[in-house]
Amino acid sequence: MIYLDAAATIKTRDDVVARMKTTMDSSWGNVSGAHSISRQAKNLLELARETSAHHCNVSPDSIVFTSGATEALNLVIQGYARKNPNARFFVSQTEHPAIIETGEFLVSTGRDVTFIPVDENGCVDISVIEQVQFGDLVSVMAVNNETGVIQDVEGVARIAHERGALVLVDAVQSLYSFTPSEITMNADFAVFSSHKWGGPQGVGVVAVSKRSQLEPLIFGGTQEWELRPGTTPAYLCDALSYTMTQALSTREIDSEHCTKIRDHAEKLIDENITGSAIHSRNTQRSPHIISVRIADIEAQMLVVMLDERGVCVSRGSACASGATTPSPVLVAMGIDGKDATSTIRLSFSSTTTIEEVTIAVDVIAQCVDQLRNNEMASA
Ligand code: PLP
Repeated sequence: MIYLDAAATIKTRDDVVARMKTTMDSSWGNVSGAHSISRQAKNLLELARETSAHHCNVSPDSIVFTSGATEALNLVIQGYARKNPNARFFVSQTEHPAIIETGEFLVSTGRDVTFIPVDENGCVDISVIEQVQFGDLVSVMAVNNETGVIQDVEGVARIAHERGALVLVDAVQSLYSFTPSEITMNADFAVFSSHKWGGPQGVGVVAVSKRSQLEPLIFGGTQEWELRPGTTPAYLCDALSYTMTQALSTREIDSEHCTKIRDHAEKLIDENITGSAIHSRNTQRSPHIISVRIADIEAQMLVVMLDERGVCVSRGSACASGATTPSPVLVAMGIDGKDATSTIRLSFSSTTTIEEVTIAVDVIAQCVDQLRNNEMASA
């Protein structure tokens, strides 16, 4: 199998699995208990909090562990809405569904939400941020999960902060573009997810500089500063913080590696797949994602065909992979519905090889020819 879907998730690193085997054996207690078994787990959790805080350059009491980024993003947006009944929300049109759908939910409850347009490259129209007022919340993702486009987080945050608004940054895909402390320098709320960096699924973290600005979404305990009740899984939080340490220690080498892979893949796509166009090519992009449109091809069919031939890619956001409607991210960029449904995403990690990408593009080219021939035969 050739796996080119790293933006959806990557396999948990062997060293993280080994570490979790140890910590699940030694630190399985309930962190809220009053005995030594609990204390062992609590110690592991608090060390994980300190490590995550260190990477984010915030204090440990700014760290809130969650079940992943989707929950963390909901906690920030809905939690902020509950605490600040008059706040307005500004979210970019190309945010992850965890934000867009939460924004739509807020609209349905009568809240004022502005979906900030993007240009044809997927870059946020920063002039809209001039409209924000004191107490509003602006949400802009660091790196788009479908196109790899890097947003001007610093520029957005500067304008928002000048006007007294707070800023949420979804930093889930940011590993190769920003360090966590570069994100928290600009963000009042910064969200990360373990499984995109080589850790286990089911754990995420939000670095919150203004905890008092959030209300919890669920009730039933005092864990995570009363913002996220429920038994905190110490060994998962430890795995997340350890994964952060490992991923950050090799990020420059890994980023260079992904850049080589991406450049090689794009060259092969240009040479071998007629009617292909890579989205946002002339914009700053993370090296681990390519979004490519292939004329006259139904992406859904291509993805299935590639899977049968041992190549795993996706249409776009993993959360919408079953959808047959065009990607809202591509539509927001002005790409018409037909072209949007002809788009696939290839995404890479530090373990992707040049050989794998060479074979994969060859298989894609063969499948594209076959689909086009079938189409002509049935016309
Ligand atoms: N934000 C972005 C940009 C993502 O790519 C994803 C995952 O696809 C998420 C949020 C949601 O992350 P999680 O799987 O941890 O809920």
